[in-house]
Amino acid sequence: MTKTVLITGGSRGIGRATAILCAQNDWNVAISYVGNRESADETCALCERAGRTGNVFALKCDVKYEQDVVDLFQATLDRFGTIDAVVNNAGIVAPKSDLADMSIERMKSVFDTNVLGAYIVAREAARAMSNRGGSIVNVSSMASKLGSPGEYVDYAGSKGAIDTLTIGLSKELGPKGIRVNAVRPGIIDTDIHGSVGRPERVAELGPNCPLGRAGKANEVANLIYWLLSDDASYVTGALIDISGGR
Ligand code: NDP
Repeated sequence: MTKTVLITGGSRGIGRATAILCAQNDWNVAISYVGNRESADETCALCERAGRTGNVFALKCDVKYEQDVVDLFQATLDRFGTIDAVVNNAGIVAPKSDLADMSIERMKSVFDTNVLGAYIVAREAARAMSNRGGSIVNVSSMASKLGSPGEYVDYAGSKGAIDTLTIGLSKELGPKGIRVNAVRPGIIDTDIHGSVGRPERVAELGPNCPLGRAGKANEVANLIYWLLSDDASYVTGALIDISGGR
């Protein structure tokens, strides 16, 4: 039977690459975006070209707003009937700063999107999958291990919460046949670095790992897709680094 995946933040970067890979494997694909309709449409067009079914749609959803997330899950169920897999991918980072100079507004913004948003998405995924099982992949970061000192300690903390969510939820939902895992990317060449005015971070920090280069979104997508698929049927509660050895 055709599987359905819901990917938050599927309009660009890692989310887009995952959407295309799922479409290539003939999954139904629902993606969300927050402001970038053009990129979301482009992802849908790429998915349509990649797969045989062409079953893809995009919906605007700010993950920090409960009703937006509830509507996204309902729209996906209305369109495809079931949800087999969820990629909790939407995330933001704020400009480089020491903690001493961080405003409360900035920290709230990072935590609202990366933590509150991810928890709401995970809750809706658990509800949607409770009768039939499924797979949830949370997109964490190597920052949760390394801490991002002097840059993004708020972001690092938000990703630490994602790791903890993954461990707790894997135990809570395992008996229902729902697997929950996290991927922890290192430096991946996407828009997120430019979004805080530091596109050069990819070239500067990318080589600073044993494999000597930044990762590509499709390399992370390969790992996410494996975790979503039945090939990973005995994997849950795993936090998997994908960082070139960083
Ligand atoms: P991009 O900036 O390329 O894409 C971010 C995506 O998230 C976009 O689709 C964006 O939508 C969406 N988004 C942003 N804010 C919200 C929100 N409030 N509600 C819903 N959607 C939102 O980022 P990446 O692909 O690099 O990042 C994806 C994930 O990977 C994030 O969780 C990030 O923290 C994590 N990560 C990335 C690393 C990297 O080096 N790139 C390293 C480690 C982790 P729109 O297009 O509408 O703006």
